[in-house]
Amino acid sequence: MSSHDPHAGLHPATRAVAVGRPDRRPGAPVNPPVAFTSTYVADGPVDYARVANPTWEPLEEAIGALEGGHALAFGSGLAAVAAVLALVPHGGAVVAPRHAYSGTLANLAEREADGALEVRPVDIAEADQVESALPGADLLLLETATNPMLEVPDLPRLAAAARAAGVLTACDNTFATPLLCQPLSDGVDVVVHSVTKYLAGHSDLVLGATVTADTEAGRALRARLHRHRTLAGAIPGPMEAWLALRGLRTLDVRLERACRTAALVAERAAGHPAVTRVRYPGWGAVVAVEVDGAEAAERVAAATRVWTHSTSLGGVESQLERRRRHAAEAATVPEGLLRLSVGIEHAEDLWADLAQALDRA
Ligand SMILES: *Cc1c(COP(=O)(O)O)cnc(C)c1O
Repeated sequence: MSSHDPHAGLHPATRAVAVGRPDRRPGAPVNPPVAFTSTYVADGPVDYARVANPTWEPLEEAIGALEGGHALAFGSGLAAVAAVLALVPHGGAVVAPRHAYSGTLANLAEREADGALEVRPVDIAEADQVESALPGADLLLLETATNPMLEVPDLPRLAAAARAAGVLTACDNTFATPLLCQPLSDGVDVVVHSVTKYLAGHSDLVLGATVTADTEAGRALRARLHRHRTLAGAIPGPMEAWLALRGLRTLDVRLERACRTAALVAERAAGHPAVTRVRYPGWGAVVAVEVDGAEAAERVAAATRVWTHSTSLGGVESQLERRRRHAAEAATVPEGLLRLSVGIEHAEDLWADLAQALDRA
């Protein structure tokens, strides 16, 4: 952040509320307008709305201020992931988590099948294993906690090792959000978000972002990502960008409640007789519980009244999902694993509902 940043020194909770507002002039609106336009009057800085839309900018400023860098909004989280993969030269190598968001893994697999790149799968919680895969690679792809296995990488160590090996590092920070982790400050080059999840927070839109550092190298990366966004057409709609900023305003209070409840659910689930394993990194609002096999997990998912059996995560409403119901999920994810996305309902209602469902496993 530069020294003339008007939000310097403010806490993240305040930045989430304050950044991306119109200038305070008498009579000015307190929220940005939505620009529904495909084109601009000639001779201005931008001609066409695939290149820029003023509605994206306040959202990008707010996400950038939380991550400590410059954000670019994309049409989806996967569009942001694809933009990062496009940084890899043809035939290059990507060191990637064995378990990761299934859409990311599918993207990598398709590009590998096309001969566009080589994938080197690693267990990202095993730093030695990751480091030995780095020589000659072009990109190290990480997730702050892997989806859905919740393995946590040592970001400062791996970012330093990658830099020493001349490998670009990208980290999908969707599960942690910038309130729990800022990968740029750990030395990561590009942060990726599915804004769809916690940042927007209401399961009512699909949107993504990349964030790069405010350094010469960071600005150069941002220019390449911006060019990819323009040429791939991977842009958000203005209404989605506006809604995402509206959702971001309450990120701190939503996340604080959800994290507190997630800790309680993780602790109590570990004591339930039907649960064979609980995966919980000690932070965040995603918890994975394992029961004995696919059928037991399906019975649990079918028996909840407050939790919805649905894919996705990060909304105000609690969701759970048996991940292996998707053919694309990694075969090493247990059949009986249920991913819980803890929302902001009352903790006791959530636990009571989950407990009675687990009783039927
Ligand atoms: C959902 C998700 C994505 C993909 O984001 P979309 O907005 O659905 O395209 C990427 N990474 C992680 C960790 C996710 O959970």
